[in-house]
Amino acid sequence: MAKYTESVCRLCRREGLKLYLKGDRCYTPKCAVERRAYAPGQHGQGRKKVSEYGLQLREKQKARRMYGILEGQFRRYFEKAERQKGITGENLLRLLERRLDNVIYRLGFGSSRSESRQLVRHGHFTVNGRKVNIPSYMIRVGDVIAVRDKSKDSPRIKELLERAGDRTPPAWLELEADQARARVVDLPTREQIDAPVQEHLIVELYSR
Ligand code: SF4
Repeated sequence: MAKYTESVCRLCRREGLKLYLKGDRCYTPKCAVERRAYAPGQHGQGRKKVSEYGLQLREKQKARRMYGILEGQFRRYFEKAERQKGITGENLLRLLERRLDNVIYRLGFGSSRSESRQLVRHGHFTVNGRKVNIPSYMIRVGDVIAVRDKSKDSPRIKELLERAGDRTPPAWLELEADQARARVVDLPTREQIDAPVQEHLIVELYSR
């Protein structure tokens, strides 16, 4: 599978805001956006007039990078969102939120989406009692997501679980931190999705 291999902090600097791609480091003064709040590269500090297309493209790239999705897959999410009832932009964000790696991140079982994805791939979680190691797995209302019993002894998982108890996950997820599990009680509304994205610009981009 294709993979982005450059510094992910460049992506945040390109979008001009924190995308929280590196976990703990994002909350420290070492964050590259804190230190150099301008776009990377030779012309990063120059003033640029951005076209309408440029704005739409940046918004799509921001969402894609935040959720760690490659172009083709992002496009497929958009097409699926278009086929669903309701507002396409919101449908798109809801689909991205329902990915298992994102849910693990929202629960605090992973410090970033990329760490969560890796933990899922390594088979540390179950959904409804069955091991699931597919990061793009779509969770549904009523699903119970849990840390596998044998993974609870992993030092990293232990550390994450201790911290998860201090976090407040979004209201559509009911966390039982002491049991290392959570239930999906609803699908997220747009207000419950903490994503600084103007999704209508993404819809406009793909509608060109
Ligand atoms: Fe982005 Fe985190 Fe890097 Fe800061 S530390 S630039 S938020 S990935």
